[in-house]
Amino acid sequence: MSQAFLGLGSNLGDKEAYLREAVGTFTDLQGVSGLYETDPIGGVEQDCYLNIVIELSTERKARELLEHAQDLEKKANRLRDIRWGPRTLDVDILWVENEEVTEPDLIVPHPRMKERAFVMVPLGELAPEFLIEWEDPGDGEVRRVKDW
Ligand code: AMP
Repeated sequence: MSQAFLGLGSNLGDKEAYLREAVGTFTDLQGVSGLYETDPIGGVEQDCYLNIVIELSTERKARELLEHAQDLEKKANRLRDIRWGPRTLDVDILWVENEEVTEPDLIVPHPRMKERAFVMVPLGELAPEFLIEWEDPGDGEVRRVKDW
């Protein structure tokens, strides 16, 4: 069994419902952070996001987690036309115990996670050790809405 963390976000439609439906598909779920409301980054005019981080205790490798993530995104009918634009569901593989992957379509640990407070703040709730030596980039407000 390995520990793994995934980041989930939604900023279109019934955001919380998209997150709840996605979380419900993980049979290896170990924990869920609080629910956060965060400002969009990237300059495109769009609604705020809801973000969570989930913890898994899993037999699956990062590659299998990516396949699951992409199935979920497809099912949520994500609109892919605008980069940084609105999306019903975005799932990132953040970190998988004892795995380092550098492939064209998969990099783990996620290379940009430390630049994103909307990832690191919920992750820190589940695993405070990730916040050692992390400095908040101040890339937008991160508001804790409620417990999951
Ligand atoms: P995004 O627009 O941020 O959702 O990027 C999606 C693309 O990033 C997918 O096509 C993935 O193949 C690729 N990717 C690379 N590394 C990761 C990762 N650690 N987690 C999720 N997607 C990844």
